[in-house]
Amino acid sequence: MITGISPSQERTPALEARDIVFEYVPGTRVLDGWSASFASGSMTALTGPSGRGKSTLLYLLGLMLQPKSGSILVDGQDTGRVRDADRARMRAEHFGFVFQDAALDATRSVLDNVIETALYRRASAAYAKQRGLEILEQLNVGISPHRKPGQVSGGQAQRIALSRALLFSPRILLADEPTGNLDPLTSDVVVDALREHAHGGAAVIIVTHSPDVAAACDRQLRL
Ligand code: ADP
Repeated sequence: MITGISPSQERTPALEARDIVFEYVPGTRVLDGWSASFASGSMTALTGPSGRGKSTLLYLLGLMLQPKSGSILVDGQDTGRVRDADRARMRAEHFGFVFQDAALDATRSVLDNVIETALYRRASAAYAKQRGLEILEQLNVGISPHRKPGQVSGGQAQRIALSRALLFSPRILLADEPTGNLDPLTSDVVVDALREHAHGGAAVIIVTHSPDVAAACDRQLRL
């Protein structure tokens, strides 16, 4: 008898970590043989105490750090075996990031911060602006898109950064504590947007300390 393998199990995961070993200081392992795969259309919470390596893992999964050994695969392709330029291209084409430090440019408007990646994608400026305005409204950022972001709250900065990450509907979205500075109501808005993005076909991975956010994910991986 042939045992059933569902089509989703057969599909190559959008992102996969295989036996990842990583150390900042030689001899001190932050990750020691970590493996997981992340399917398209799913939202995963990475949880665990501070200092366990969650942020480090997000940088590795986002191809910003290279493992000491092991591999990160995007659509089954081993990213350790491609040239740096190709890795950078993969990152720009497939990934969206929301890091704890929103890293907004205070000299440019909120909207310009959101659409800045359009420059690297040869996307239409008109499309990027329209989409940027839609997302800022969906995330209820509550600040004029034409203002400079100098005076925004931490929670607003996070939502501006998330708007920027969602602009081109990345197939893989990595977010480090995306609700860390938010009140419960606004946190729900952000989690809903992330879940909608995942269920639209992306692999979404969130580092979170919030049990509510973790519970809203399709699965939880504890480090
Ligand atoms: P988490 O996100 O779970 O709090 P991190 O990935 O930030 O954990 O950190 C994991 C470990 O790596 C910690 O012991 C931290 O001190 C160490 N670490 C993080 N970043 C660096 C760095 N740039 N240089 C050296 N050690 C680091």
